[in-house]
Amino acid sequence: MKYGFSARIQKTPKSFIREILKVTQKPEVISFAGGLPNPSLIDTEKILEAAEEVISKDGRNALQYSTTEGYLPLRKYIAERYSKRYGIKADPDEILITNGSQQCLDLIGKIFIDKNDGVVIERPGYLGAIQAFSIFEPEFFPVNLSGEGPDTEELERIVSYENPKLFYGIPNSQNPSGITYSKEKRKEISDILSGTDTVFVEDDAYGELNFSGKTLPPVKKYLPELDIMTGSFSKIVSPGMRMGWIYAPEEILDKISTAKQASDLHSNYLCQRIIAEYLLSNNIDDNIKRIREEYKKRCTYMIDLMNEKFPESVSHTNPEGGMFIWLTLPKGYSSMTLFDKAMEKNVAILPGTPFYCDGGGDNTARINFSNSDEKDIEKGIEVLSKIFSEWKI
Ligand code: PMP
Repeated sequence: MKYGFSARIQKTPKSFIREILKVTQKPEVISFAGGLPNPSLIDTEKILEAAEEVISKDGRNALQYSTTEGYLPLRKYIAERYSKRYGIKADPDEILITNGSQQCLDLIGKIFIDKNDGVVIERPGYLGAIQAFSIFEPEFFPVNLSGEGPDTEELERIVSYENPKLFYGIPNSQNPSGITYSKEKRKEISDILSGTDTVFVEDDAYGELNFSGKTLPPVKKYLPELDIMTGSFSKIVSPGMRMGWIYAPEEILDKISTAKQASDLHSNYLCQRIIAEYLLSNNIDDNIKRIREEYKKRCTYMIDLMNEKFPESVSHTNPEGGMFIWLTLPKGYSSMTLFDKAMEKNVAILPGTPFYCDGGGDNTARINFSNSDEKDIEKGIEVLSKIFSEWKI
């Protein structure tokens, strides 16, 4: 059978992560490959209470169709949190609830990207964004990312010569590298974009997961009209509920709302009601504190072991938050070979190549620490360090 699939979908890369996760999901595998929040930190008891409250008190409304923008008390809660955490005065009318923050990327692509439009993305960049934007057939312009954030000279050059529609970045605990942009970089980005037509898509999926609770000003603070923030409850409440949001100027949100109507009418209303009930009757900061402490412990444990056992030629980032550490092997060594070798011993890592939209990164890998306990971290790092010593690197 020959189906007439669109050129668009044929050019969209399959999620390498999803493919790799299929082989790493056997129970005997210690997996540093995925990106799952730790299930023990999902507040099931309180979420159950919230669900019972919503369904027993207002089930017929909560199970009905609803508005595209989303449940107003939830949008108000999110707007107030921006003001509390970042000191930005967000209006609930600038917030729209999405089906996870992944949907924001699809909707943003739909309203901004025509074929061959320029999209700037970090190098390495979030695979899910590369995939979501690829559907719209843009031309990607990667900008190298290192310790302090993106290479702003490169960004400035691309913005002035290529007039890209979007720059997509993750200033807090980036996926995959774990890097957090410095305050100076954030300011520089806003100076570069200010007065241009390039919109900064500021993905803040990990903003709440800074281990010390530190907040740096989002680029949105300096660039309110040219910045779209995306946010998610996946890492702080539950990923399975698929609750995220977009925070954008009203003119942009109006177009997003049209695109969302065409896609799915509105996000799961029952989950919006349950999450709102949960947030309004509990103090989410207590849960976030537990998550930060736990992830910090696991990350520190893993990094200490890496420092002790890995050769100096294998470098790693030192994340201040989030869920990932980025490994760089010496040039000429392949993380795909590392993957194969480690899988022989039932340890999974995620090779870095798919995070490079223009190829490269063969010697890099993403290591997740949020979903393994200390025993597994110790075993997994031991396996990797043995491979490095066999390789004599
Ligand atoms: N942005 C980033 C940077 C992510 O890492 C993820 C999930 N891995 C998402 C967005 C999407 O998450 P969700 O749809 O669950 O909000």
